[in-house]
Amino acid sequence: MKDCWFSLPETVYVSFDNPGLVMLYHTEKGHQASSELPQVVELIKDVYRPENMGVVSLDVYLPDDGIERFVGRLKHLEMCMTKAHVTNQPKPIHFLPILNLQNDVERLQEIGEAHMIGDNISNYLTRAVIHLNTECGKHCPQCGIAHRQTLCCTATEPPLAMPLERLKELVGQLAATSVQVIDLVGGDLRAYPHLGQLHALVEQYPQFSWHLWQHGANGEGFAAGKAKTDVVLSAPFETSDGFETLRNNPDARFHLLVENEMQVEQAERLVAGIEAERCEWVPVFNGENLKFFEDNVFLDEDDITSGPVSMREIFCHQKLNTNYFGTLHFFADGEVKADVNAETVGRFPDKSVLELVYEELTRNTAWRRIRSGERCSVCCYRFLCPSPGNYETAIGKENLCKIKSTVAIDGDS
Ligand code: SF4
Ligand code: SF4
Repeated sequence: MKDCWFSLPETVYVSFDNPGLVMLYHTEKGHQASSELPQVVELIKDVYRPENMGVVSLDVYLPDDGIERFVGRLKHLEMCMTKAHVTNQPKPIHFLPILNLQNDVERLQEIGEAHMIGDNISNYLTRAVIHLNTECGKHCPQCGIAHRQTLCCTATEPPLAMPLERLKELVGQLAATSVQVIDLVGGDLRAYPHLGQLHALVEQYPQFSWHLWQHGANGEGFAAGKAKTDVVLSAPFETSDGFETLRNNPDARFHLLVENEMQVEQAERLVAGIEAERCEWVPVFNGENLKFFEDNVFLDEDDITSGPVSMREIFCHQKLNTNYFGTLHFFADGEVKADVNAETVGRFPDKSVLELVYEELTRNTAWRRIRSGERCSVCCYRFLCPSPGNYETAIGKENLCKIKSTVAIDGDS
């Protein structure tokens, strides 16, 4: 190893988030190697120092058993590159994958609202969830809970309904953005007072992928043109005539809200024979089923690393929230939020869709929420982990994982 240049391939992500530890991760093969040895941490940090341009000479660090073992391990996993010094040849240069800050959305804060005219920030908006009404005669036990964790109907007292003129204005403005998906959510959509006009609206804007979210408790629901049907099913998972019609509709997708193992079994019986790709399993936290979440939702090291997680995903996790980015919720009372649990970004139509996108980009109620809590911000898996989502909010815990404090495995893992 003496007389060698040392560098890291572009496929290797390096985390220094856990102080005193370095973790290297192969973004194509899912391998990882980590070390707490100060001389190893220093070597990898040196590779990243701008003046070294991604390459250091191993001579500076050798002889050293710890370094030799670690570099040997990296070579075995194809996670580093070594190249012999050649007399009279200059030091090589190697470009490391570093975030392109040029296009950082934070730049908006400096530029201000003029940015709305210059660059088209409407491109950031890709999905709109329109909460049409909150009227429903059913009394599901999950009502008011599930919609804070997943896309689902909810009822309120007194019930609300979005005025038709506002709905038309909203969809018209969305047509000038990059929105591809529009989700229509209730209540019971059949109780929406302007149901007759929905069909025409869906037909008028065929560029959107329209989704009608309806609960199985409300029978076969309501259909509108080419809109797809998303059916929410929850305990007690009983069959009905409406459900039988829906299961024969190849465009209907089922979202199974489950709170415990027994409900999983009931739901399995209900959807037996329906293609697995038409069914989504959605655990719902009810305040008393933490064990169910620990067993089925909490991530362990293998879940996090074995993906593998691509460099692109890691970069996304560093800069934005992949659960929320690009989506706005428009509620029947005019409120607009980037996530159901987040604070309001404004009201429509008091603010235009474009202004609301600007508000969220600059205020960041959800779109750029990354793992910055006390525990996650010093974890070496910080950006390999999925972005934080609604379960963290519902459970009131920043880290839904089984990772103990330090994952430092000296040499490798
Ligand atoms: S069907 Fe939906 S809106 Fe109606 S009570 Fe059940 S969860 Fe609430
Ligand atoms: S949830 Fe937080 S603490 Fe747990 S592995 Fe992910 S980043 Fe680390």
